[in-house]
Amino acid sequence: MKKNIKEFLDLVKLRNGHEPEFLQAVEEVAETVIPYIVKHDIYYGKNILLRMVEPERLISFRVSWVDDSGEIQVNRGYRIQMNSAIGPYKGGLRFHPTVNASILKFLAFEQVFKNSLTTLPMGGGKGGSDFDPKGKSDNEIMRFCHAFMSELFRHIGPNTDVPAGDIGVGAREIGFLFGMYKKLRNEFTGVLTGKGLSWGGSLIRPEATGYGTVYFAESMLNTKNESVKGKTVVISGSGNVAQFAAEKVLHLGGKVVTLSDSSGYIYDEEGIDEAKLKFVMELKNVKRGRINEYVNAYPNATFVAGKTPWEVTCDIALPCATQNELNKNNAETLLSNGCICVSEGANMPSTKGAIAAFHDAKILFAPGKASNAGGVATSGLEMSQNSLRISWTREEVDDRLKGIMKNIHDACIEYGTEDDGYINYVKGANIAGFVKVADAMLAQGIV
Ligand code: NDP
Repeated sequence: MKKNIKEFLDLVKLRNGHEPEFLQAVEEVAETVIPYIVKHDIYYGKNILLRMVEPERLISFRVSWVDDSGEIQVNRGYRIQMNSAIGPYKGGLRFHPTVNASILKFLAFEQVFKNSLTTLPMGGGKGGSDFDPKGKSDNEIMRFCHAFMSELFRHIGPNTDVPAGDIGVGAREIGFLFGMYKKLRNEFTGVLTGKGLSWGGSLIRPEATGYGTVYFAESMLNTKNESVKGKTVVISGSGNVAQFAAEKVLHLGGKVVTLSDSSGYIYDEEGIDEAKLKFVMELKNVKRGRINEYVNAYPNATFVAGKTPWEVTCDIALPCATQNELNKNNAETLLSNGCICVSEGANMPSTKGAIAAFHDAKILFAPGKASNAGGVATSGLEMSQNSLRISWTREEVDDRLKGIMKNIHDACIEYGTEDDGYINYVKGANIAGFVKVADAMLAQGIV
């Protein structure tokens, strides 16, 4: 078995040696999926995984735009169309200075499995740019988004590829991107998700990733006759996913004690209640401020500069910021402080060493491709509503979201329960995600 995995990974490394994040994501999948393939004749010897690690299409393009001082700026734009076996490519756009082909390929690869897990007909893709939205005026953001879409529009469409938001791309950016798409194509269509409510967006889409991550944590805890109620929760990030994860923890009776951004974390021992969370939402989404400003409003809280919140004692940890933000040392600290459950809101926030530590300790651990799938699932629901030209109520969408998260949890149990009864959610999510895509690829032949 080890030989099969090694041979496969050596081949992938040969082609993608300079892409560490992508190799990390592929390795995690290969280690759980190859043993499954070897045991199942219908998949064995068909090089399905080798086909899945090669993007169907990788688009890279120049984005030139003019800043407020009249200077011409040049950024690089990307769209990775990874796999369309079960539906149009679907996945977010990330605007962040660290964006490169490796990061987007890892995200697109993860997205294929995640979208499959939702049971909705969506293939996997991801895109974005090394553009840094921090400190830019609204006009600069608009000019950049328009320039970005003036190339991307050729490659996407409601039945081809439907992008959404991710880090640095929220409601404001989706609006500007949609405006330019509509102008260039001269059609009003559901080509992007995360749209405003008055022009085709879905209720609950902004909340969905964070809510879903907490629904998933609740399902995991229920397997141990536990729940979020009364638990102390540490959350990283303070963007879209972190904010709504915090909101759902409060709904379920938990206590949130941290939030963070790339400069450090705030610790509020008294708990971040609904009023304080409202302050954070205003600070981050409207004023576009930094999380350290929280302590000016709530002086009993502390700001810890340059650190991640994993040193704070908690029952539940929700990493909701970015990839590789929680390493082996952080995991060991969480475990020694009594953490019993980790549900990833971000994509691949835990390093390989951290995941191994959680598995060795046999705590509840959910990989992002399962626990944060609520966002793309609700994007799928937005696409359905656009096609039907109807809008479902908040309750209807939330019920569907809850149902989808429960189904993903059940699929993880089906494929991930070990002989000793421990649920390996990484294995479960990888195999359940793989099976549906692999079956479609086999049915469609070698294309
Ligand atoms: P936002 O841009 O709204 O927020 C990102 C947050 O993470 C900010 O607080 C940001 O801080 C912090 N962050 C970003 N990069 C770093 C870094 N290198 N180190 C420390 N903190 C960092 O993004 P989202 O909330 O939408 O996304 C967060 C994560 O969730 C990402 O991994 C994304 O891929 C994943 N995700 C998002 C979905 C969605 O629906 N939005 C769906 C599924 C997954 P700062 O402002 O300082 O950069």
